[in-house]
Order: sequence, then C-alpha cells, then structure tokens
Amino acid sequence: MEVRLIAYTPQPELTIAAAARLSTTNSKATELLDRMTPERANALIDRLLTSGHLSPFEHASFTFGIDGISRATSHQLVRHRLASYTQQSQRYVSVKQLSYVTPRSIEERPELLDRYRQAMAANHGLYREMLQAGIPAEDARYLLPNAVETRLVMTMNARELMHAASVRLCLRAQWEIVHLFEQIKIEVDKVAPRIGAELKPKCFMQGYCDEAETCGLLPTLN
Ligand SMILES: Cc1cc2nc3c(=O)[nH]c(=O)nc-3n(C[C@H](O)[C@H](O)[C@H](O)COP(=O)(O)OP(=O)(O)OC[C@H]3O[C@@H](n4cnc5c(N)ncnc54)[C@H](O)[C@@H]3O)c2cc1C
Repeated sequence: MEVRLIAYTPQPELTIAAAARLSTTNSKATELLDRMTPERANALIDRLLTSGHLSPFEHASFTFGIDGISRATSHQLVRHRLASYTQQSQRYVSVKQLSYVTPRSIEERPELLDRYRQAMAANHGLYREMLQAGIPAEDARYLLPNAVETRLVMTMNARELMHAASVRLCLRAQWEIVHLFEQIKIEVDKVAPRIGAELKPKCFMQGYCDEAETCGLLPTLN
C-alpha cells in the first residue's frame, strides 16, 4: 500500500482558525488569515474541538493518491460519503498482471497460502481467457477477487477525516483499513500536525470504548 498526500488547502490550520474567527469578529477573511499565527490557530482549534464547533474544519481539504489497497478495503473506504473519489476502472483498464493483497493470517499458514495463490492464479487465468475470447473487461472482471489491488484518488475535508479516522483507527476495524488510515495520518502530520493529532480512534476522544468488546486500549463503560 502506498499513500501520498498530493494536494491540500494551503495553510490548512490557519484557514480553519481564520474561518472560525470570522464568525465572531467584524473583519474580512483575508485580514484574519494575515493576522493568524500558528499559536493562535492552535488555541482556536482546541476551542473548536472542545465546543464541538466543527464546521470550520470543512474549509481544509486533503487529496491523497492511494495505491495498492484491496478492493475489499476500497469498498469500505467509499462508504464515507462526505468525500470525493476517483478510482481506477476495471472496465477500461484490464488486469494484465494480477496484483493482490494477502492478509497476514493467510501468509502465516503455508498450506493455505499455497492454495490461496493457486486460486488467485486460476481466477486470473480464466479472466485472461475470457478477455481473449472477446468477453468485455466489464464482464470478465466479475471473476476478479476482493483481494485484487486498486488505486484511487480521495479528497476529504478535515472534519470528515477526523470522523472517518475515529472509526477506522479503532483496532476493532479491519486491519487493512486501519493501516490505510495510519498512512493517511502520517501524511497529514507532515503538513498539518494539529489536525493530524486529531486523527485518532474514537475511544481516545470519548475516554472509553463503545464497542461490544474492547481491544484493551480503553475499557468499556460497563
Ligand atoms: C468497524 C466497522 C464495521 C462496519 N461494518 C459494516 C457492516 O457490516 N455493514 C455495513 O453496511 N457497513 C458497515 N460499516 C460501515 C458503516 O456502517 C458506515 O457506512 C461507514 O463507517 C461510514 O460512516 P458514517 O455512516 O458515519 O458516515 P460518513 O459517510 O463518513 O459521513 C459522516 C457523517 O455525516 C453524517 N451523514 C452522512 N450522510 C448522511 C445522511 N445521508 N443522513 C444523515 N447524516 C449523514 C453522519 O453524521 C455521518 O456520521 C462498518 C464500519 C466500521 C467502522
């Protein structure tokens, strides 16, 4: 898996803070942005978070290039509706070489790993045969497994990033999407560390675990 931040709102944290200040002062956004310092922005962001005034976080967006995740994970990712996605098409791009994700639980079982690889190769072989026989890629792709790698571009604003990370960094979420959001957090940390610090599992925000069973990080309420 490779995750790279390819574009983002300039000065994302100052922009969020300036937008927040605009609601309580009689100044233009440009003046507020010019006067905003990282220290004041951090203090304002703290206040927005504690008061639950989250709409200013929507003014900072982050665009990621995401390569080599499974279709199983991209399907989970795109359930987050407040984002924009462009995903490589299996209709227009035929899968010449099958790249697929192998979960560690399977990698650790050599006897099953072997059969897993055989199943992938067999599926791909039949897929190639179908293409050669004139079956359109949009139909032959029905043979491709959930494990097949995909690539996409995703744009999400900071508010939705915080929300998605809160549920996807929970260790009860599926391992590959947890890993994806760990990579997203690393990328955001590089350009907006205050926002990056807020990309954390929901239990860290709540102070307790609300899952049926805790991973052990924080206790449940009962
Ligand atoms: C551990 C885990 C297991 C899951 N298992 C399953 C499963 O078995 N089956 C399954 O189908 N899904 C499953 N999901 C997906 C889950 O149900 C959500 O679809 C996904 O997490 C997207 O998050 P969200 O609904 O909070 O909204 P997002 O799309 O991320 O939107 C963010 C917020 O905006 C608001 N919002 C967005 N759209 C609307 C709307 N139309 N109406 C009102 N408010 C809206 C909500 O407050 C929402 O929380 C799972 C998710 C997780 C994290």
